[in-house]
Amino acid sequence: MEVQEKYFQLITRARHNMDEELLPLVREEPAALQRERTPLTELLEFILQTALHERASDIHFEPLEEEVRIRMRVKGEMRVLFAHMPLELYGNLVSRFKLICGLDIAEHRLPQDGRFSFGRKQENSLDVRLSVVPMITGEKIVLRLLNNKDNFKGLAQLDLSERNLELLKHKCTSGHGAILIAGPVNSGKTTTLYAILSMLNQEGNNIISIEDPVEYRIEGINQIQVNEKIAFTFEKALEAVLRQDFDCLAVGEIRSSQVAETLISAALTGRRIYGTIHTPGAVKTVYRLLDMGIRPYIIRAAIRAIVGQRLLRRLCPICRLPYQVQQNSREGHFLGEAYRLEDIYYHHNPQGCPQCGHTGFIGRIAIHEILCFSEELSEEPKDKEVGAILISSDCLLSTMREDGIAKALAGEIQLEELMNIF
Ligand SMILES: [Zn+2]
Repeated sequence: MEVQEKYFQLITRARHNMDEELLPLVREEPAALQRERTPLTELLEFILQTALHERASDIHFEPLEEEVRIRMRVKGEMRVLFAHMPLELYGNLVSRFKLICGLDIAEHRLPQDGRFSFGRKQENSLDVRLSVVPMITGEKIVLRLLNNKDNFKGLAQLDLSERNLELLKHKCTSGHGAILIAGPVNSGKTTTLYAILSMLNQEGNNIISIEDPVEYRIEGINQIQVNEKIAFTFEKALEAVLRQDFDCLAVGEIRSSQVAETLISAALTGRRIYGTIHTPGAVKTVYRLLDMGIRPYIIRAAIRAIVGQRLLRRLCPICRLPYQVQQNSREGHFLGEAYRLEDIYYHHNPQGCPQCGHTGFIGRIAIHEILCFSEELSEEPKDKEVGAILISSDCLLSTMREDGIAKALAGEIQLEELMNIF
């Protein structure tokens, strides 16, 4: 309750100071604005700090009919952070955000985006990406909290099965070629990419990454932030980086066929390439590359591995509910050959327990598949058989579906949630 009380205290102070708040600001530089202490900046800082303490990845400021609701995303789930911010105060807050980011405060009808750093000391500072979009009820602001230590994991903390972990380590540290990480939005691709980069981050390696946005700063890695506003695109950055004598190059994420082609040719010339790509999984990535016009034998020669992944809710180990699957049920059919009468699976407990905040879940867990090509093709396959030859059964150690079933059997996820995906 203390946090909510403090919030209302700051709201009251900021409302009293509302008229003086923005007058002197317009003349000042964005950097100077951030050093300034006013009731409004204290309120802002408090909101950011509270969200950070709750381990949020995003903060949403949502103008409703009569007030503003502040929600946050924590481990994939939306939660109310603070309700009831008065609308008249929100106008000042939006202007303050726009000024800090160097945006146009007079523009209320078009979307804008920017970024700012938050925090007094360089080493503890937090990078924030801001997006403001006009809604019918007013301007909605979403802050993405970057440089968040919770998003940063080592390879061993990625929930990879033992076999997948060994395979990925081996593929990342030996030979050359491209390693792609595939999945939809919010599937943890960037977390995997950073885990790989930090493993490779040694004095003997020159690592360059091209990102939008740079989500986490890693000491020792040359990170490039693209900036579409000044036409510093992925394509431009890539072209320049090819002359920067790198050992490893990471790109998050591969959106155009031009970027894909450049990366593939760099992979063929003996460099190590790492990239994320927005596709449903490893196999679909191969088809995406074929659609981009990359020849099958090139794909096979250039790609060392494709990791497909998804994030599912992790069951609370304290309160989860065991049950046996009936052979003739929907779940029984889904399991198919993996079905065993004696196996125990788990549902989440809708009442939850204190450990999981009465939700039945604790954070999220990843499921994976890793596709590797066993050998190079001697001749190019005919169009019809391309997919089948490229992705023969020995290319996938286990599918994401199989990895998911193993994790359901271990009591880490619900079968129902897996069945919604496959
Ligand atoms: Zn629980």
